[in-house]
This record gives sequence, structure tokens and C-alpha cells, in this order.
Amino acid sequence: MNSSELVTESIRVYVRQRPLLPGEVPVDSSSSSSGGANNNSNNGYISQFNDCSLLYNHNITKKCTDFTFHKVFDSSVMQEELFNHGVKELVQSTMNGYNGTIIAYGPTNSGKTYTMRGDNSNLGIIPRAISNILELMNNNNKTIITVSYLQIYCEVITDLINPTSDDPLVIREKPNGTLYIENISKIRLTSLEDIYDVLNKGDMNRSTAKTAMNNTSSRSHAIMMVTIMQPDASHSNGSQEIYKESTLTLVDLAGSERYSATIGLHYQRSEEGKAINLSLSALGNCMNALAEAKQHVPFRDSKLTRLLQNSLGGNARTAIICNVPPGYDEYGEIINTLRFATR
Ligand code: ADP
Ligand code: MG
Repeated sequence: MNSSELVTESIRVYVRQRPLLPGEVPVDSSSSSSGGANNNSNNGYISQFNDCSLLYNHNITKKCTDFTFHKVFDSSVMQEELFNHGVKELVQSTMNGYNGTIIAYGPTNSGKTYTMRGDNSNLGIIPRAISNILELMNNNNKTIITVSYLQIYCEVITDLINPTSDDPLVIREKPNGTLYIENISKIRLTSLEDIYDVLNKGDMNRSTAKTAMNNTSSRSHAIMMVTIMQPDASHSNGSQEIYKESTLTLVDLAGSERYSATIGLHYQRSEEGKAINLSLSALGNCMNALAEAKQHVPFRDSKLTRLLQNSLGGNARTAIICNVPPGYDEYGEIINTLRFATR
């Protein structure tokens, strides 16, 4: 296996479609005009799901595009299956010293937060990953697990656990090249309840900010960093414990839509829209450069990619779950998401 194949193998891309919500219009594939009910007002729809590919029917050209990914999860897939077949191995590899990153991408209302967090009866990736890690710790009380939770809004990083400081957080570099966020809060995790406390605190801190910035949660990236420190027997010098450190990064991205129903077409030119476009396209560029094993990966192009630098490059493993809504692709967000996923 050459280095390019190795790197490609470390990035896995999935597509997940959520089920229809009450009131949403299903695709009528029996309709003679393939656009269905709102024939002219949509770009197309996904007409077929296979194990690792799907078919997108374009409304105007009436052509179909076949997209291939590492795995496609249709709307019937439950949280447990997604976890087991999509990310469990990656989560477990972080206990063996690898860095891992799981990213939910997609337009607002496509199921990113459901995928990452889920609800009480359908636990998402975050609680499943944490309980998996706690299980693997196997009561080894020398392993230390801490978590930080932050958001990036308009290229400004804020601490979601303890946002008391007026100053935005700053990314710094250690002499050995590892990046860290100065003064960020870290909570030690000992049980699954601890992660719910962190998520709830984060929600409270996000909603206080909501009044100042309209609907922050779909316009900002929420990033949870779980750091695992394990005693490293192979490097122990007897008197002092030496730890090996790895990080699992869990990212619920800002909505990828180019169009905002509230701000209209001006959205793309708004500060918010520009910041989101910048960071999502920087993410796409970095993934692309990594997949092609390019010499230069443009991590410095956005706060998001800079922050993910340690956990995307090197021997890190990454899974991107691209979420799409069901039904007709009214604003072209489904096709945009599939194109992003293909990069
Ligand atoms: P996003 O975070 O992308 O804006 P959400 O995760 O909030 O989207 O999902 C939008 C709505 O769809 C929520 O009401 C959520 O509960 C529901 N939903 C999303 N994915 C699923 C799914 N796989 N199964 C059931 N309901 C889902
Ligand atoms: Mg969300």
C-alpha cells in the first residue's frame, strides 16, 4: 500500500438521509414528470439508495448522477447501526493512541445534531462514543479522560463550558508543533452523566448568545474534544508516570446552506454566511489535500481547520457523515452536500 492509499483509507465519508418529518412531502417517483408535485421549484431528488452508492435524479436535465461513498445510510437506519458500522472502530482506535475526528456535515434541519447527540431513546454518536470509551477504560483508574466544548461563530472561538471571559479563545502551538487552545475549560469525565452535564451547559451558553446573534446554533460549529491520557508502560522510567495522549474530536458543523430563509439571498454576503462558507470550503480543501496526500494542506485558512489540524493530519482517522433531508431538493442543498462529500 503506498502512502496515498494509506491516507485515503484514514478518511471515511458517509451519507445519511433522515426520515420525513410530519408535514414534509415525499418524493412521488411514479409521477410522469420526474420533478413531482413542485416540478419547477426543485433541483431533483435521491431516487435510489445502495450499500455504498446512491442515485440523484436532476430535475431539469432529467439525468441521473451516481455517487459513491464508503457507506450510504438510508432513512431507515437507526443510531446503533450507524454507530457500529460507521464510527465504532474509529472511537476504539483513540484508546490505542490514535487521534480521531467525527464530523457531521449538511444543511440546517438535515439531522446533524440528531446524528451527533440523538435524543433520550435514540442515543447519538457522542453518548455512544463516551460510553464505549468508559467501558474500554475497564476501571483503569490511571486513565484520565477530559472534555472541552467550544463553538466557532464568525471565526471567533468561545468556551461553551465556562464562557465568562470576554476575550475569545486563542489557538497556540507548542514547541513540538501540537496545537492547543489557551485557557479552555476541561472537565474530567468519569461517567456518562458527566457528558450530559457538559452538553446541557453548552446548550445554556449557546442560547444566551442567541438573542444577540440570530439562531446561533445552526450558524456556528460546535466542537467537543475528548482527551484520553493513558499511562504509557513502554516509556515509563519507574519513578514517574508517563502518559500517552490521544484526542477524539466530535464536530457538529454550522448548516451548509447557501440560502437563508430569514435573511434571503443576501445570506451568502452576510458576515455569518461568509464565515461559514470560508470554513466549510477550507474543510473541503483540507480533506481533498489529505485524500490526495498533497504536500501542502491549507489548515491555516480557517479557525475550524486550524483547530482540527492535529486530528486530521498524520495518523489520525476521520469520519464525515454528510446528512441530507428526504424529499425534493428545493434549494439544491442535497446536491451541494453530495458534491462536498464526493470531494
Ligand atoms: P440539524 O442539526 O442538521 O439542523 P436536526 O438534527 O436538528 O438537524 O434534525 C432536524 C429534525 O429531524 C429534528 O426534529 C430531529 O429530531 C429529526 N431527525 C433528524 N434525523 C433523524 C432520524 N434519523 N430519525 C428521526 N428523526 C430525525
Ligand atoms: Mg443542529
